Amino acid sequence: MANRAVFLDRDGTINEEVGYVNHIERFQLLPHVGQAIRLLNQHGLKAVVITNQSGVARGYFPESLIHLVHQKMEELLKREGAHIDGIYYCPHHPDVGTPPYRQKCRCRKPATGLVEEAVKELDIDCSKSYTIGDRGVDIEFAHRIGAKGILVLTGYGKGEWEYFRDQWKVKPDHIASDLNEAVQWILLQK
Ligand SMILES: [Mg+2]
Ligand SMILES: [Zn+2]
Repeated sequence: MANRAVFLDRDGTINEEVGYVNHIERFQLLPHVGQAIRLLNQHGLKAVVITNQSGVARGYFPESLIHLVHQKMEELLKREGAHIDGIYYCPHHPDVGTPPYRQKCRCRKPATGLVEEAVKELDIDCSKSYTIGDRGVDIEFAHRIGAKGILVLTGYGKGEWEYFRDQWKVKPDHIASDLNEAVQWILLQK
């Protein structure tokens, strides 16, 4: 039987939204994130990070920093007894920077390229899965992969909800104050 997954946005959902994490020190976990991901681990839901990192294409930081940041994320989570099952990122932007980073790729959310990779590698059934993110694009992304989408009010979430929800083609299935509350809601679903 295929796995259920929770596709997690990174910036503003797992860690503090700082614009761009252009230095390792700017990566700080939000409160209760370790506990939230540990709960997913304990309930057999795959915790999969899907993140747009166009700062690479924009020339704000090298692609190598993404790997360092993810190492730090995994270490911080490990201290809380939590782990991530897969991390997938898009370093591209459709019209900023220089190729190969400047390209109309298939992996920048809300496009579904990264999830297609995750589905193959981790044997995931998207129809039984969820996304959690702080932007409208994360909800659109949920819709495109056939998962339920949860908006968190951390990061850009509050402002996105207050000022842009009328423009969204797709509404969130749930709105949660933070990642931990989002996970609690998921665990109550059948
Ligand atoms: Mg975000
Ligand atoms: Zn991409």
